[in-house]
Amino acid sequence: MTAQAGNSKFVKTMNRQNILNLIRLSEEISRSELVQQTGLTAPTVSDITKRFMHKGLIVESGIAKSTGGRRAVTFRLNPEARYSVGLDVENGHVGVQILDFTGETVFQADFPYQGEVDFSELLGLLENAVLHAIRESGIEREKVLGIGVSVPGLVNMDTGEVHLIPHFHLRNVPLKEKLEDVLQLPVSVINDANAAALAEKWLGQARDNENFICVVGRTGIGAGLFLGGELYQGSAGVAGEIGHQTVEIDGPLCDCGNYGCLESLAGSQAILKYVKAQLKQGRKSMLTELVEDFEALTLDNVCHAASLGDQLALDVFNRTGVYLGLGLANIINILNPEKLLISGDILKYRDYLDRMHETLDSKLLGVQKRCCQVAYSEMGVNSSGRGAGVLVLDRFRV
Ligand SMILES: [Zn+2]
Repeated sequence: MTAQAGNSKFVKTMNRQNILNLIRLSEEISRSELVQQTGLTAPTVSDITKRFMHKGLIVESGIAKSTGGRRAVTFRLNPEARYSVGLDVENGHVGVQILDFTGETVFQADFPYQGEVDFSELLGLLENAVLHAIRESGIEREKVLGIGVSVPGLVNMDTGEVHLIPHFHLRNVPLKEKLEDVLQLPVSVINDANAAALAEKWLGQARDNENFICVVGRTGIGAGLFLGGELYQGSAGVAGEIGHQTVEIDGPLCDCGNYGCLESLAGSQAILKYVKAQLKQGRKSMLTELVEDFEALTLDNVCHAASLGDQLALDVFNRTGVYLGLGLANIINILNPEKLLISGDILKYRDYLDRMHETLDSKLLGVQKRCCQVAYSEMGVNSSGRGAGVLVLDRFRV
């Protein structure tokens, strides 16, 4: 292929991608609006929309409001055109979702597991979740574009290799390669906070934001950084590890090997560890009546106790709130985002986080406070799995 032919092919692909994105973003759009917004000629837009119709990717959705003259047909994505599978790997369970072509979740299920799993057991869990979801949802396998896997660790999004999942003690595993062997479908791998950020950018509260941060707090705490309209990944693809910022110099040992990291003090496991230690020391709490075996204590138990006014539960969330406030203030002061969205397990105890807001208020620079809106994600606790599915849709080229 000559350089010119190669260039022309690239431009055509870009034009098609641009139009598909505009149809997705606007939900419903006419041909003349597409001409206006892309700057392409009417025949080019017409050729591309015909091609999309032929492939079943879009459908005519109605007639645009008449502004005089001929009434224009509008287009929207065909939700059933293609699907993606989003997997969410987390400590204790694997979530699976099927997204339609517009990014809506049409099926979801959760697979809990006990104890620590090695790499081959993890592959087995993921394979089982995908096969279950495809079978139970009734969608055609041929329409599945691929699998996105969200993992709570350091990944290389280009190679699909996982450098580290601290709580699983997994290092340098070729997740994409092995899962593709097993499932015979394309696989993309993404960090869980980046996945949540992508979901917010496509479908959530950050659709109109170019600079925002999405914090996912679960066993670990990470941030997806959208800067200048792009997911910022850093030089080695592992930016946003805010859970490993030191917030207490002589704090507890973290899974990463350091001491006093944010997630070792404010992650979900850290919350449970603290409560268990307090109970063992004889601290009075309703939890002693609510839970038979302290070792099986869950975050939901602690949230339930807090809702009943239990002082230990309220204290642990106050303590967590101070550390979260410190950690989030640091990242906002450094990056100056328009918005910071909070997601993950933190959503379960958001009602008890006054201390987080107070700490943010005292630690943020005045200008940052005015610029940055701090909000809770409306997408629920499964946004990482949804974002993993979005990644597959995002990488689809027509
Ligand atoms: Zn750490």
